[in-house]
Amino acid sequence: MQIDFTGKRVLVTGGTRGIGRGVVEHFLDAGARVAVNGSSAQSTAQAIAEIGRPERTVAAPGSVSSVAGCQAIVDAALAGLGGLDVLVNNAGCDTESPVEQIDEAMWDRVVDTNLKGAFFTTQRALAALQESGGSIVNMASVLGLVGAVDESMYCTTKAGLIALTRAHALEFAPRVRVNAVCPGVIDTDMLRTWAEYMTGSVKAGYEILGATNGFKRVAHVREIAGPVLYLASDMASFVTGSIHVVDGAMIAD
Ligand code: NAP
Repeated sequence: MQIDFTGKRVLVTGGTRGIGRGVVEHFLDAGARVAVNGSSAQSTAQAIAEIGRPERTVAAPGSVSSVAGCQAIVDAALAGLGGLDVLVNNAGCDTESPVEQIDEAMWDRVVDTNLKGAFFTTQRALAALQESGGSIVNMASVLGLVGAVDESMYCTTKAGLIALTRAHALEFAPRVRVNAVCPGVIDTDMLRTWAEYMTGSVKAGYEILGATNGFKRVAHVREIAGPVLYLASDMASFVTGSIHVVDGAMIAD
């Protein structure tokens, strides 16, 4: 099933790999033009080359962890696309660690990428989204709703992103809709790192992580991209401030 985004202009942060890459490719399949952001010019250029649709992709490289980076990303997207209809704040990182071993640099990296990045990318893109009557989708996590051992920094940022989604939905209504998606366990580099941290191997970790949901498996990135496209589409015209859990019933009980 496909939603039509022909003529729509989309910016996806963290669009080079994993969930963000799945979101980029799904928007392209649906006819959109997409500004792809990765943390560096190199990772962004490589992803765009691999995606292979240069006529509808624009490079918007830079780190979301600084305000200057957010401004540069939005500037590149607006220059390349001529406006903006959808912003997906997806860029994120994780550092698994017991609380005693977390230092200020680790905290700043995770909080600045996951929370400050979404806030200031939104701030810098807001005027363009207000002009188009667009929408924002924030990539939160089930770990913004429940806790997990050695994930306290990450959980803090994702809970913050959920709060930000609700506050921005009220502040920007009715012109701009703001929603969040909370994935469960999705097959990406980030999850592979967590699986290895837990058990020493991706395979063993995935068996444990997959068993946490009703489907007894880790999900594919496209299974998150679908809900993102729905939330960004006119089908969701009365949906704002909502938190969409996409976790195969991982936290349903
Ligand atoms: P991933 O495979 O590690 O990919 C991370 C993406 O974010 C890459 O495109 C990376 O770009 C980009 N990125 C990282 N730091 C950045 C920065 N400072 N500025 C700009 N881009 C940056 O992660 P993922 O699993 O796809 O996660 C994507 C989002 O989903 C994250 O917000 C994550 O918290 C969330 N999530 C993931 C899961 C899961 O199970 N995988 C579950 C719940 C929520 P480069 O290629 O340049 O490094």
